[in-house]
Amino acid sequence: MTSLKQIRSTFLDYFAADSHEKVQSAPLVPQNDPTLLFVNAGMVPFKDYFTGAAVPPYKRATSSQKCVRAGGKHNDLDNVGYTARHHTFFEMLGNFSFGDYFKDHAIESAWGLLTKEFGLDPKRLLVTVYHTDDEAFDIWKKVTGFADEKIIRIPTADNFWAMGDSGPCGPCTEIFYDHGDHIFGGPPGSPDEDGDRFVEIWNNVFMQYEKENDEIVRDLPKPSVDTGMGLERIAAVLQGVHSNYEVDLFKSLINASEELTSTKAEGERAPSHRVIADHLRSTAFLIADGVTPSNEGRGYVLRRIMRRAMRHAHLLGAQDPLMHRLVPTLVQEMGEAYPELGRAQAFIEDTLKQEEIRFRTTLGRGMNLFDQATTGFKAGDMLDGQTAFTLYDTYGFPLDLTQDEARRRGFSVNVDGFETAMAEQRDRSREHWKGSGQTASAGAWLALRDQHGATAFTGYESETSEGKV
Ligand code: ATP
Ligand code: MG
Ligand code: MG
Ligand code: MG
Repeated sequence: MTSLKQIRSTFLDYFAADSHEKVQSAPLVPQNDPTLLFVNAGMVPFKDYFTGAAVPPYKRATSSQKCVRAGGKHNDLDNVGYTARHHTFFEMLGNFSFGDYFKDHAIESAWGLLTKEFGLDPKRLLVTVYHTDDEAFDIWKKVTGFADEKIIRIPTADNFWAMGDSGPCGPCTEIFYDHGDHIFGGPPGSPDEDGDRFVEIWNNVFMQYEKENDEIVRDLPKPSVDTGMGLERIAAVLQGVHSNYEVDLFKSLINASEELTSTKAEGERAPSHRVIADHLRSTAFLIADGVTPSNEGRGYVLRRIMRRAMRHAHLLGAQDPLMHRLVPTLVQEMGEAYPELGRAQAFIEDTLKQEEIRFRTTLGRGMNLFDQATTGFKAGDMLDGQTAFTLYDTYGFPLDLTQDEARRRGFSVNVDGFETAMAEQRDRSREHWKGSGQTASAGAWLALRDQHGATAFTGYESETSEGKV
């Protein structure tokens, strides 16, 4: 069996042999983009090369980039545990051309890697192109000999990438793997495309135009290529399993959580084990890159992920903090490729343990409140906003945690009601400060501090783990 580690190096070596510079993954906290929560694609560290703001020291690069999609534009948090293919943390393998090769070479290389190096059966593969991109269509036709139905023209934004309202943009072509007709789902562009039968493994973006104020204004003088392939997804394909959660790395993590909770990842427990394994990776990697749990910004995203995992540990019957005890298995699996994990191990364990001790003081009582408030509920019923707010305010349940629990039981949460309750609370506190001579914002900060304790927020500044541990 080809291990995840071997697949990562095969990819990087394949492109290195084709004059691509091997580039280390950048930290998860973006170094060059304050508007972005976390690095969420392989191209992020290279943005300035694509816009022309900086001159690349090489014309081609390849990397395996750490990515987190748990907030902002790409948020896969709610998919985790429910789809076979989504993580909050994953590695994106990529090859990049900075004004060097374009569509021909990108498509030929991708096809060569998949069918020769990885030995995939072309019958299982199909591709999409942007509906007007005849050039990409013709190249695929020539390279693969596919019937026209296997080169699907997609008219939506899914196949047209743009950096923003201004900057480089262009059509994409995506490669899908058919896991077989025993799995629910239709080909891309069909009504059932959200199923898990046809899984997108690789996206190739062809940057060929430039936008200004959301309008394409000119052709780029030197078009570029940016690609991204999910390492865990291609590993599932190459290891002959359907779900990312069945690849070797996840098997080890799930085995460890099975052992520590004395439960099996079967039936209704399976999603909990998957969530724990997934969230362990995102939290450990975020902490290693300098993010610490807090009540705002990046730190709050981290806290939300941590607490979701901790609720699932509680659901599996864990009586004591669990997450920190899984860190050694993660370091064993991924510490070689990512030495920052080993360097930060003690700090990661301590941060997880402290957070779990703290959350456990209110988690059980919060769950009791949830149970009481939903007694007699039928599928489709809605939890009232005031209870969701009390869970948030008094018991430290982030809203999405409450929503996740509701979803698990077939209920929903009144989000408008939650927001109303939150606004009322804010107004009450404002009334309260009026007589005290403080400004509202100082008052707000003090109220927060009283509620949660002072938290040092270091998420935005810290560059690497070394500064922190
Ligand atoms: P999907 O449609 O399946 O959500 P995407 O179109 O959002 O994927 P891209 O933004 O094109 O994904 O990212 C490039 C590649 O990264 C994808 O083809 C996929 O292999 C991988 N990928 C994207 N999101 C995830 C995720 N949440 N977990 C694991 N791999 C992912
Ligand atoms: Mg997506
Ligand atoms: Mg997609
Ligand atoms: Mg895509």
